Formats: sequence, structure tokens, C-alpha cells
Amino acid sequence: MDLLKEKGYKYTDKRKDLLSLFAHEKRYLSAKDVQESLKHKYPGLSFDTIYRNLTTFAEIGLLEETEWEGERKFRFTCSRNEHHHHLICLSCGSTKSIHTCPMEVLNSELNGFNVTGHKFEVYGYCTDCKKLN
Ligand SMILES: [Zn+2]
Ligand SMILES: [Zn+2]
Ligand SMILES: [Zn+2]
Repeated sequence: MDLLKEKGYKYTDKRKDLLSLFAHEKRYLSAKDVQESLKHKYPGLSFDTIYRNLTTFAEIGLLEETEWEGERKFRFTCSRNEHHHHLICLSCGSTKSIHTCPMEVLNSELNGFNVTGHKFEVYGYCTDCKKLN
């Protein structure tokens, strides 16, 4: 919330509830999931408003975003600072961090290419969801 104020965004109850939802859930949620979770408290809250806010939060680094099945999904930024990647469950959106980075293996094949960043995510089903399928 301090970060939000620092960047000149208004601190509203809605934004606070949005962020506490993510702080509580610790998994990837789409704007639709968020709308579903908040609709009892904010029946008039539109998909667009949620989407815009999530995009803003991602831009200032409060949320991490990814995309699968053609949908953008967001989660609370991991508190750990060390470099890591995620295993993402396609069913419940839960994540697990992995500390092996595939870039370490690729170094010998870069041939002087100046790497400024990379993305690596593993999709599948967590042990809880595997049981259900
Ligand atoms: Zn993470
Ligand atoms: Zn799962
Ligand atoms: Zn990496």
C-alpha cells in the first residue's frame, strides 16, 4: 500500500481488498476469478475496473503476471528476492518455486547474444489436483 501511494495511486478500500485477496490466495488468479471472489462485497465492480487495477499493480511490481489458456493471470509477487521460477498448477493456479534456472544450461549456446531477461514456467497439475483428475 505504501508503494501504491508512493507511485501516486489512490489508496481505496477496493484496492485494499483486491490486494488482500491476492495476499491471502498465494496463487494465480484471473480478473474473472477476482470478480467472482469480490462480487458479494462489490456487486457493481466491473471486469474492466478489476483488469485495469491488476494491470497497474503488475506494472508497479505488486503482482506478477503470466498468461495461459489465452488469459492473463496475476499473483502476489513472491517475497523471496533470489532468482527462481515457478511450477504452476493449471487447475487451481497454485505455484511452487524451483531454484534451478535453465539459463545456466543455455550459456554455452548463446554465442555472444546479450541476454537482458528471460521467462520460464512449468505447467501441469499439483499433487492435490492430480488426485482429482
Ligand atoms: Zn515467484
Ligand atoms: Zn492444483
Ligand atoms: Zn532463470
